[in-house]
Amino acid sequence: MPTVSEFELYSQQLHDQYQRKKTKLRISLTDRCNFKCSYCMPDHPTWLAKKEILSFEELYLFCETMVKLGIQQIRLTGGEPLMRKGVSHFIERLNQLRALGLSRISMTTNAYYLAEYAADLKQAGLDDLNISLDSIRPETFFNMTKKPLQPVLAGIAAAQQANIPIKINCVLLQGENSDEILELVQWAYQQQIELRFIEYMPLDQPEQWQREKVVIEDEILAQLAPHFQIDSIPRKNDPATHYLLNQTFKLGVISTISKPFCESCDRLRLTATGELFTCLFANTGTPIRHLLAVGQQQTLITQILTTVWHKKAGYIAHQAAPLRKITMHAIGG
Ligand code: SAM
Ligand code: SF4
Repeated sequence: MPTVSEFELYSQQLHDQYQRKKTKLRISLTDRCNFKCSYCMPDHPTWLAKKEILSFEELYLFCETMVKLGIQQIRLTGGEPLMRKGVSHFIERLNQLRALGLSRISMTTNAYYLAEYAADLKQAGLDDLNISLDSIRPETFFNMTKKPLQPVLAGIAAAQQANIPIKINCVLLQGENSDEILELVQWAYQQQIELRFIEYMPLDQPEQWQREKVVIEDEILAQLAPHFQIDSIPRKNDPATHYLLNQTFKLGVISTISKPFCESCDRLRLTATGELFTCLFANTGTPIRHLLAVGQQQTLITQILTTVWHKKAGYIAHQAAPLRKITMHAIGG
């Protein structure tokens, strides 16, 4: 039975100093990944030791606390979440949090191992998947990820077979897959899978990102305009701007660089080592692992509420790469 002050703490919602309410949480299950996407992974990654990674027990306690504080959607990511053993069982456990207000359990994956896991994930209660796919040309795909395309396509087919709703995420890089925009849209249109293009963000290893490599939203639309009727859909609380192509196909663009949406950001992130990040572009996170233990609940809640309150305005305010060693694969995209 919680004490009165715990009740008081739980009744406070996850608001920051700019009146943004947090309802979505991303959990990085591991920093490890079998891909080497040029825009994400450093040239020489050093992996965390197993003991540095939060246990499923710790993760569950954190998720439970966050749902009590108002989190409605949890996304499992990484690194590659399917490289963490026991992920289906963890999802099964997360389902218990639906009674406390959790409405959606999702995952972002490169889909390489998905053919093996799709049925289990569905059975465990996963609601939906975001799958990264930067090209449907085997050569481009290999150049960008250093892995073959075929297992990913098999993973997508397996998710469809298992009836898991999917969206495709595609990071566009000038000179690498920027001439495949139409081809990717036609492929997704044909399959009736929602597609979202993501502008390349400065979240890879220091001093690698170049503004010239970014394919911005306006360029994407300009390439598609001769081929489709494009109608914009009014923006909701989603990082993507949505368009309806030929009145039937939904296309999203996550334009963090050209049109930042920080003023409506409703996300929080937990790294695999237990650091709470309030923004992808934050220089530091708040370590909370030492508070994921019996008897620390009140301190944990206070720490979370304080961290969230101090969330900065975001990329919109500083427009630069964060000054930190941690890259996208470690923070959890
Ligand atoms: N490994 C999984 C995957 O690739 O789907 C999950 C983790 S990955 C870090 C999550 C998402 O972040 C992917 O959709 C990936 O394309 C995106 N991402 C990684 N680095 C990025 C960058 N520098 N700019 C934009 N998106 C990036
Ligand atoms: Fe791995 Fe995902 Fe990063 Fe690619 S984007 S290197 S698949 S974590």
